[in-house]
Amino acid sequence: MRVLILSDIHSNLEALEACLASAPAYDQVVNLGDIVGYGASPNEVIARSRGLGKFFVRGNHDKAAAGLMDLKDFNPVAGMAAIWTREHLSTENLAWLRALPQGPIQVDGLEGVQFVHGSPMDEDDYVVTLHDAIEPLLVSSIPLTFFGHSHLQGSFWSNTVTPDVYRPVYRTVGQAESADLPLKDGQHYLVNPGSVGQPRDGDWRAAFAVFDSDARIVTFCRAPYNLKNAQDRIIAANLPQRLATRLAAGR
Ligand code: ZN
Repeated sequence: MRVLILSDIHSNLEALEACLASAPAYDQVVNLGDIVGYGASPNEVIARSRGLGKFFVRGNHDKAAAGLMDLKDFNPVAGMAAIWTREHLSTENLAWLRALPQGPIQVDGLEGVQFVHGSPMDEDDYVVTLHDAIEPLLVSSIPLTFFGHSHLQGSFWSNTVTPDVYRPVYRTVGQAESADLPLKDGQHYLVNPGSVGQPRDGDWRAAFAVFDSDARIVTFCRAPYNLKNAQDRIIAANLPQRLATRLAAGR
């Protein structure tokens, strides 16, 4: 089975469309949450995402927009975006967001694989550094976890002796590109496909991944998208300008 893994779309329709247009063939789609928040196209992104399949976990921004979480843990810009999103979502989409499942979830036909937003230990935990990854790698009985939340594309793995990190290396800054990570037997992996709609690894291109469960290969992908349109929508929506400028920097 080939699984397209999308995470942290953050209401960026242009970035989502670019990912779908450049993705290699896939059989199933799993969405790791933060479908909304920050960007200016929440209803359009939810509609497109719902049309792709049925596997979702909720993210903290989905919870915030749906009124399931106190905004006190959000910085002021994120809080403003959550309130804007709540005010602009259709009643139906708001109800759909509110009903999204908490991870981990699993997908029929994919043995030994789980999907979460933040960490297998807590949906709101950030796994950013190798140090953050060690405990979830060691305690999880499921060897392969796909996670989001940090907006940093790459993988941590451990065979219980030597944990390590992999970050894909790309040759260009503006082309569609991919990088393969073949998974080794007997090791535990935490894999982040990166953020579709607000990358924070210094690369502005939309990020996603495809997992081939037969070949045991994760393919990390980057896709250039219509940045100007996404930024113009944010400005026109009177969302904080920083949410537009940061997209160009990938930070
Ligand atoms: Zn996010």
